[in-house]
Amino acid sequence: MIAVQHIGKSFGKLTVLDDISFEVNNPGIFAVLGPNGSGKTTFLKILLGMVIPETGKMLFDGKDISRSFKYRNKIGYLPQVAQFPDNLTVVEIINMIKNIRQQPAHSEQLISLFGLAKSLDKKLGTLSGGTRQKVNIVLTFMFDNPVIVLDEPTAGLDPVSLIKLKDLIQQEKNAGKIILITSHIMGLVEELADEIIFLLEGQIFFKGTLEDLKSKTGSEDLEHSIATILEP
Ligand code: ADP
Ligand code: MG
Repeated sequence: MIAVQHIGKSFGKLTVLDDISFEVNNPGIFAVLGPNGSGKTTFLKILLGMVIPETGKMLFDGKDISRSFKYRNKIGYLPQVAQFPDNLTVVEIINMIKNIRQQPAHSEQLISLFGLAKSLDKKLGTLSGGTRQKVNIVLTFMFDNPVIVLDEPTAGLDPVSLIKLKDLIQQEKNAGKIILITSHIMGLVEELADEIIFLLEGQIFFKGTLEDLKSKTGSEDLEHSIATILEP
């Protein structure tokens, strides 16, 4: 369904991704991990056509999409840093995104799931970080897209909201979707991820299941596996 072949991306002298190839054909939850600055966000933005790589190509449903953007209406995206206009209200941004995407949306159940009904008429600039993130989640999950890209979706969430988000991600997987996620919350990755893609120094250092990673590193959990990779 999604494939990237020999992707390379540099910013000036800094090579962020160096000849990355990756393919996902089956539904599931794919965790993109790696230390700060290892290129996780850049990788996800390349899949979305928001960053253009210098080398390589991308395929979506078998078609080369390097110069096309239509495929993006099949992807739900939660950016790591959501730049909302501060003077819009919650209900206004939800309606604005619905108008832009022109797809059936189910925002009401998500608004009630995350307790946002009382905040609908508040301006985005006045919301706490956690509440802004809940709005971000509603905007991402309200459409029915086959691919969902989540860049640090847990930022600022309280524990109860974190559980709700995990359930939501699991439901989407059960509905047959492909979910790509980055997160610093190792518990979430251990609970949800079918496959781990670990980026290090511009390369895919590891791709496989949590069990594979644990046995490769001789560690008992994800946190220690990663520590072993980074400080051998
Ligand atoms: P991660 O999400 O894994 O923390 P990023 O993909 O955000 O990493 O960034 C990878 C590296 O690329 C970092 O060193 C970052 O500073 C650099 N970088 C990202 N975007 C840009 C940009 N637009 N211009 C210059 N450098 C960038
Ligand atoms: Mg990032």
